Amino acid sequence: MIDAVVIGSGPNGLVAAVELARAGASVQVLEARDEIGGGIRTAALTLPGFAHDVCSGCHPMGVLSPAFQSMPLGEHGLRWVHPAASVAHPLDGEPAVLLRRSLVDTASELGPDARAWATLFAPFVDDYELLADLLGPLRIPRHPIRMARFGLPGLLPATTFSRARFRGARARALLAGCAAHSILPLERPLTAAVGMIFALTGHMTDWPVAAGGSQAIGDALASYLRSLGGTIETGRCVRSLADLPPARVVLFDTSPAQLADVAAPILPAGYVRRLRRYRYGPGAFKLDWALDGPIPWRDPRCLEASTVHLGGTLDEIAAGEGAVWRGAHPERPFVLVVQQSQFDATRAPAGKHTGYAYCHVPAGSTVDQTDAIERQLERFAPGFRDRILARHPTTTADLERDNPNYVGGAITGGVADLFQFFTRPVARLDPYSTPNPRVFLCSASTPPGGGVHGMCGWFAARSALRSLSRLPAAPSPL
Ligand SMILES: Cc1cc2nc3c(=O)[nH]c(=O)nc-3n(C[C@H](O)[C@H](O)[C@H](O)COP(=O)(O)OP(=O)(O)OC[C@H]3O[C@@H](n4cnc5c(N)ncnc54)[C@H](O)[C@@H]3O)c2cc1C
Repeated sequence: MIDAVVIGSGPNGLVAAVELARAGASVQVLEARDEIGGGIRTAALTLPGFAHDVCSGCHPMGVLSPAFQSMPLGEHGLRWVHPAASVAHPLDGEPAVLLRRSLVDTASELGPDARAWATLFAPFVDDYELLADLLGPLRIPRHPIRMARFGLPGLLPATTFSRARFRGARARALLAGCAAHSILPLERPLTAAVGMIFALTGHMTDWPVAAGGSQAIGDALASYLRSLGGTIETGRCVRSLADLPPARVVLFDTSPAQLADVAAPILPAGYVRRLRRYRYGPGAFKLDWALDGPIPWRDPRCLEASTVHLGGTLDEIAAGEGAVWRGAHPERPFVLVVQQSQFDATRAPAGKHTGYAYCHVPAGSTVDQTDAIERQLERFAPGFRDRILARHPTTTADLERDNPNYVGGAITGGVADLFQFFTRPVARLDPYSTPNPRVFLCSASTPPGGGVHGMCGWFAARSALRSLSRLPAAPSPL
């Protein structure tokens, strides 16, 4: 009997497996697809020679993650490629705003808000312990005063916070673009914190891409896991307990819905009901392009950034994200663009480029957003459409078919609002555990939530190891 089975080989599943194997446990990962990685896969979606990140494209949380930093992933082939700027935020009729690592350089973009921006972030730019506290479950922080200083304003809605803190449109827009990663209406509490965290990571690192594609992150984790004796089986979809090999504990790198479906016979009915009430939130519509050249931004400095936020002002971004939340498709959606090939020449043939963009849409949306996204590109990069050699759209249904964790096309493991941020998947002291001491959830539907950082898997593995130390060596089958 092996010690632990992990269902799913996304970044959290692989990190959980590594953490268990490092502690001496025997581990097997079962992955439904024929390839590993979940949200960190790279594939030829358009033309031969073009490598596209299927899901995640840019990795500020990855490079800063205490879990990844504790692993020799460089020795297993992972290389981060850093751009000159993390984010470019183009605006109509004026130069784009650039989020750079240097506070001084970023502040110099922000006119009347230069000092306010610098004062806001200066106390935290070297505070890796604060970041580690933010990338974990709800617990007593190591530095409560620093956490309160950062977290209390963060409880505000991004709209209220930005209007109170900044006088000009440029700083407000930059923060709004970062806050929109929350996939919540920007009038909701806690969205200021999301904006501040994403902006802060831009001052702690330059949002990097993975050389060769995001797949390199999964490949490095898998290689490290195998070097520790762990095994991975692909093409193994777990639909019921009967699909599991005998194991002392099982960790689900899945949605709470799948945990409920598979493990219902060994979980209390009340807990299963709570898992089924979990909220997933809006989805995403994604476009990948093979391009004849770089994106022809009106402000060419946008080419310095790995990520470009398209949506104009705070008011416009807030209106768009609010509409999506209410079930509508805004005419001008907030669009996230990643320009991997600008920094990593392996992604496209010489002189050509890949393009990657998505916008938020209502859960389960069947509306084709190709035109809406490309209109936003044309708005800030006139002539963009002339550069398109091929395009590959991904709908919410495609996302969920590809990976059942993306329920309704939701890409970050579920709504991270004030309630569900701290209590994902349900309110428990140890959110990774379940009432069954042999069953754990380790996916992005646990704290700290979506993103490629592996921290959910890291904490879930620790919870499972505590349980393993108390369980008999060969308990009865699950
Ligand atoms: C379009 C898009 C863009 C994104 N952009 C970014 C970004 O730029 N930066 C960032 O940090 N994050 C980004 N994300 C989010 C990030 O990809 C996810 O938060 C992250 O991958 C979650 O990791 P995970 O391990 O929890 O689950 P996943 O990565 O979803 O992996 C789960 C794995 O489990 C497998 N699985 C599921 N059910 C079963 C089963 N029953 N049996 C066996 N295997 C199963 C799946 O096939 C999958 O391989 C993006 C996501 C999407 C979709």
